[in-house]
Amino acid sequence: MAAAIPGIFSDELREAVLASKVLVVGAGGIGCEILKNLVLSGFSDIEIIDLDTIDVSNLNRQFLFQKQHVGKSKAAVARETALTFNPDVKIVHHHDSITSTEYGITYFKRFSFVMNALDNRAARNHVNRMCLAADIPLIESGTAGYDGQVELIKKGLTQCYECTPKVAAKTFPGCTIRNTPSEPIHCIVWAKHLFNQLFGEEDPDQDVSPDTADPEAAGDTAGEEALQSKANDKGNVERVSTRSWAQANHYDSEKLFTKLFHDDIKYLLSMDNLWKKRRPPTPLDWNSLPDGVAGSSKDGGDTGLRDQQQWSIAKCGAVFAESVKKLSLDFEACRQKSKTDHLVWDKDDTAAMDFVASCANIRAHIFGIPEKTRFDIKSMAGNIIPAIATTNAIIAGVVVLHAFRVLLNKLEDCKSVYLRPKMNHKNQLLVPEKCINAPNPKCYVCAKTPTAALAADVTKMTVKQLEDIVLKAGMNMVAPDVMIDGKGIVVISSEEGETEENNDKFLEEVGIVDGAILSVDDFLQNYSLKVTVVHRDKPAPNSDEPEFIITADADDLKPKEENNVLEKPSTSNGQSMEISPQKSDPGSAHKRKTESPADDTPSKKRKIEFSNGSDSDDDICVVESEPDNNSAGASSSSIKRKQVDDDDDCFIVDDENSDVYMATQ
Ligand SMILES: [Zn+2]
Repeated sequence: MAAAIPGIFSDELREAVLASKVLVVGAGGIGCEILKNLVLSGFSDIEIIDLDTIDVSNLNRQFLFQKQHVGKSKAAVARETALTFNPDVKIVHHHDSITSTEYGITYFKRFSFVMNALDNRAARNHVNRMCLAADIPLIESGTAGYDGQVELIKKGLTQCYECTPKVAAKTFPGCTIRNTPSEPIHCIVWAKHLFNQLFGEEDPDQDVSPDTADPEAAGDTAGEEALQSKANDKGNVERVSTRSWAQANHYDSEKLFTKLFHDDIKYLLSMDNLWKKRRPPTPLDWNSLPDGVAGSSKDGGDTGLRDQQQWSIAKCGAVFAESVKKLSLDFEACRQKSKTDHLVWDKDDTAAMDFVASCANIRAHIFGIPEKTRFDIKSMAGNIIPAIATTNAIIAGVVVLHAFRVLLNKLEDCKSVYLRPKMNHKNQLLVPEKCINAPNPKCYVCAKTPTAALAADVTKMTVKQLEDIVLKAGMNMVAPDVMIDGKGIVVISSEEGETEENNDKFLEEVGIVDGAILSVDDFLQNYSLKVTVVHRDKPAPNSDEPEFIITADADDLKPKEENNVLEKPSTSNGQSMEISPQKSDPGSAHKRKTESPADDTPSKKRKIEFSNGSDSDDDICVVESEPDNNSAGASSSSIKRKQVDDDDDCFIVDDENSDVYMATQ
């Protein structure tokens, strides 16, 4: 091992390596590589933790695992295999979640430093807070396709993981999806929503029928008239749910097709205002679907893999009919088991994917949007970027080089490093940051006395929602305690049985009114902050406004004129939030965009987003991109962040030239 061979390391480093005790969080793509590097470098006291078991799809890059290990604990097998490289190393493995209460501050304090090799933001935020609380260095890393990054997080010296906004999820206004799609992704999102409306978990925010409340159609009474006149006709634009309608029609694919792609489109056409500056859609007739394929001869489309053929609309119609038949049977079988059971969209389920591919293309055709192959639609609908073994290996190498610097106490030398897909003009693939990024004094996690403001409807938000949606899902706490300052009233307790009676009460009923200050505390994370509550009326059900906003600075809640480009809420799922760790700089978004350096500076810094932790199949990663008006700067003033369970939504994987990327492993 390197540390055992004279001359490879300086004596100082050799001794530091041998004397250190390190923790690797995650034994997946990057984790396996890090563990291998550590063992070969001579680290002799290592702990590794991972909750996952080995999946066959991991084997193409997680090289500590082999076929016979499928189904076993990643941490256990990673340890076993690494020991074959060097049996003298002490490796302790934990098949467990790092957020478990067993791994408290005292546990973290045992280590010289921690290396994150995680695939989700929730766990990253948690380890970030634990390392800040234990005051030990954390080496954070992530990859997405050919992109990757490594950064050091050290309390008081560098930014913490939560100092800067993370990338926003790209979502689309409901009316774009329902009324005026203009890009393939809009049709794909619509098709996924349609799947849920028909067979999945019904979500009122995923309505697929024409949106009569579209502000652009305001003053347009034609739509309303059409609604009136047709309401008693076939029920096609009646306010019955799409599912009830489909069930009443026994999922008859022809009727369904006619409703979705003819009648609803005719209805949209009646909303004249929408089409004054747009190409109006063309309703389709089930009995005369075009069977030509744009840009190729009729037969040309049949060559090659099915997934990569361009389907004609007639073919889409046939695929649609077939998939509806299969899915309605599956759905019925689900219902036999339980009335509330439903299908869950899965890109790898043939019928579910066929359904979305055919519907998306039919809708695209109607609106004059380029059609896509099933393969392309699958990537876009699943937000897939392949995890690449070499990227993981390079990033893991940089992690261990950072580890050496940490051991030599050269923390200032641990500048963030970005692996880019193409060389810059200096022929660099690995681009270091020019200097250490200083902590954000207003960060609501690592500031000396963290504060935040919460804007929410105190008359409509319940205590349970405050706990689950705001504090746990929104602010990544594990077991928060909440007390109203000045009154000494505990409204949420992490101790079981103490405050459950508050769960269904509205905030104002327990004394959380406009101006109230909450002392919020998470014992496990050793994290506490003061949250000022600002009442803000709950947005209308169909509004794109977020249900609540959290910001590090209450001033951010005041209406801003110039800056609302960044304030525009990103989602209508009723759970969205915005976080503004820093005070906004009006107009900064546009300014920074134009300033965006064309040189080698790693403009992608901090643009990393991670896939949902529950999406354990980490051979893919979910990529969320941010609105194109946002910038990469560390001082980007606000973000729109979705809940972690948001993988129903579609995000565009921007091309590599965009200044947006995220990473998992
Ligand atoms: Zn911070």
